[in-house]
Amino acid sequence: MTGRTKATLVIAGAAQVLTCVLSSADLVGRIENGSVAIAGETIIGVGSAVEVSACVDSASAQVIDATGKVVAPGFVDSHTHLVFGGSRAPEYAARMTRDLEDVQSLGIPTGILATVEATRKETIESLAAGAEQRLWQMLRHGTTTVESKSGYGLSLDQEVKQLEVNRILQERQAVDIVSTFLGAHAFPREMPRERYVDLVVHAMIPQVAEQCLAVFCDVFCEKGYFSVSEARRILEAGRAAGLKLKIHADEYKAFGATLLAAELGAVSADHLNYTNCVAMRKLKQAGVVAVVMPVLDFAVRHEHPFDARAMLDKQMTVALATDLCPACRVESMQLVMQFACRLYRFSPEEALHAATVGGARALGMDDRGVLAAGKLADVQIWSIPTFEHVIYRIGHNAVDKVIRRGRIVV
Ligand code: ZN
Repeated sequence: MTGRTKATLVIAGAAQVLTCVLSSADLVGRIENGSVAIAGETIIGVGSAVEVSACVDSASAQVIDATGKVVAPGFVDSHTHLVFGGSRAPEYAARMTRDLEDVQSLGIPTGILATVEATRKETIESLAAGAEQRLWQMLRHGTTTVESKSGYGLSLDQEVKQLEVNRILQERQAVDIVSTFLGAHAFPREMPRERYVDLVVHAMIPQVAEQCLAVFCDVFCEKGYFSVSEARRILEAGRAAGLKLKIHADEYKAFGATLLAAELGAVSADHLNYTNCVAMRKLKQAGVVAVVMPVLDFAVRHEHPFDARAMLDKQMTVALATDLCPACRVESMQLVMQFACRLYRFSPEEALHAATVGGARALGMDDRGVLAAGKLADVQIWSIPTFEHVIYRIGHNAVDKVIRRGRIVV
């Protein structure tokens, strides 16, 4: 911190500030009795209260007294299917005691195609309204950046409609939206698979790129969905059109998707339930971020939980995400951290790191996820005495305030 820059907002005297800036001593960069100074949208100073007040002119700043509270970066939720129509509550409830065939024999619509049907019937406005409610809950739980995938349209017009909703949300909501094109989420009922892959490659990707509707191109590469060779065609077309790459990999079978992610230099590979050590090493070498979703495994009662400990011990970059979707209705990254720690043996520090810095890396962003001078002022303030309480109080929302781009939004 040099000079005395004028602050517009100062968060003062927090019991702990968790910068999430990696130091040898502490993965979450804890500062006791810490302050954060902000000018406009940007953080200009982080340190002990004394350090910050020595370097920042806070005479005209709004001051938030954070005595007895904990300050952390806003969460970056790097994998969601936020925009969808309808509800799959009947399916979820019935699945508590019945298997899938039983549920289908009762006439209850199930799976991705049930959501496709419901999403196609909705207007842009009604889809945006539903997603906005979920986004507001995410923000209230401390999330300031959300990735949002298409994939419930499965036709050119319907996929574009879903991505238009992302654009509307970005304009209206106090959460940053990162848009992902996932036309290759499933095969629609109305055409043969080869024709659909052609449609994705020759019609959807060019239009998505031309209208700047997405940053990422993603594929659900899985048995019964897109094969490795189909995924390769789609991802190569996405990359040629200027999109960055993501892939749903190894969720129900080790299928070769992780190796494809490493080979193509995807930004992230997501799920990884069946990923073995060889594939983990390849992902790490290729700089691919591992995105894992503990609450999704819980919601689908996954029989093969991912091996987060092996990923962390191999020093892969790991991101935690909600996977908010009709099959996994979770908005809270705090709950994700709680599950990650108790069920997947993350340390609390590893979980926070994965929910902030890890999430930002999974979106190819280096301007957020940490509290440091020059970074975006996306900050949350927790009403808890020490950091550990965020994983200790199960199902509790610790958030007192959320600041997004320097503005108090919760
Ligand atoms: Zn997904």
